[in-house]
Amino acid sequence: MNLTLMVKLHPTPEQTTALLETMERFNSACNFVAETAFRERTANKIRLQKIVYYDIRERFSLPAQMAVRVISKVAEAYKRDKSKQPVFREHGAIVYDQRVLSWKGLDRVSILTLRGRQVIPIVLGGYQKARLDRIRGQADLIYRDGTFYLAVVVEVPEPPPLQPDDWLGVDLGIVNIATDSDGDTYSGGHLNGLRKRHTKLRRRLQAKGTKSARRLLKKRRRKERRFAADVNHRIAKRLVAKAQGTGRGIALEDLKGIRERITVQKAQRRTQHSWAFHQLRSFIEYKARLFGVPVVLVDPRNTSRTCPACGLVDKRNRPTQASFQCVGCGFAGPADTIAAGNIARRAAVNQPHAAGDSA
Ligand SMILES: [Zn+2]
Repeated sequence: MNLTLMVKLHPTPEQTTALLETMERFNSACNFVAETAFRERTANKIRLQKIVYYDIRERFSLPAQMAVRVISKVAEAYKRDKSKQPVFREHGAIVYDQRVLSWKGLDRVSILTLRGRQVIPIVLGGYQKARLDRIRGQADLIYRDGTFYLAVVVEVPEPPPLQPDDWLGVDLGIVNIATDSDGDTYSGGHLNGLRKRHTKLRRRLQAKGTKSARRLLKKRRRKERRFAADVNHRIAKRLVAKAQGTGRGIALEDLKGIRERITVQKAQRRTQHSWAFHQLRSFIEYKARLFGVPVVLVDPRNTSRTCPACGLVDKRNRPTQASFQCVGCGFAGPADTIAAGNIARRAAVNQPHAAGDSA
């Protein structure tokens, strides 16, 4: 399977300037080409190349390889959403292939900039060193919070999946991002607080409606996403490590088709979280594969309303969001843990289908 490594660059101040200048020029060229793509209504690389290639070379003095990259970046962005002209941030990523980037051993990389090729020190962790020889083709140059990274895709062998004795059920929620069937909760720390603050700020900025307000808003959104992604990585890692350490597979709710069943109001509430949920699920599935932990998806219906003691399914078993109390037998406990337990039990009794097959 493929894994993305983030390799940190340690450029000199001069190299930093060269890299930033290259990114800025690259992305202005992208915005220029985006205009043409949108005007001509074309996401076709060959067609775009015919129209803009010489213009890009001339106006932006970009090397040939980069001009080609500009065109493909724009074509891909426009293809994703043809309703609007794509806009590129001044420090958006540049894709480098082997012709313009080469690894010099384990401690340096040579990379093309507008000031020629720069040989820049890199620092690799042991984990990264072991995988660097598996790098496939291209790398994305990324600038984030004042640091440059190369995001590279490496291929790592997949271990054979273990034969689980049992299942660790995982319920995904909003207050606790995840709860497992052992009763452990995985919270997002101050993620929800950050979201609330962000919602307030968004209202204020949207009311303002100025260009700088919009820019600030975008920046905040990116920051929030990065933070949420980091939280999700850590939660997925802990869950997979726990399942592996206890010889269990992971059971999740199969949320395909659930959208038709939920009400509009719920759907709206869910939107802002659905992206994060989807990401957490995919991180869990991905890390599980990496460690040979099987993942199964179970039918999500009534997992939070079913009594694990007597089997009674009743809406009233959930007197509050956080608590479960069976109206039949009186069995009570934290709602999330009970839902996670139901998920684990379903995985054990059902004919499970592996997550990887249905994706
Ligand atoms: Zn009961």
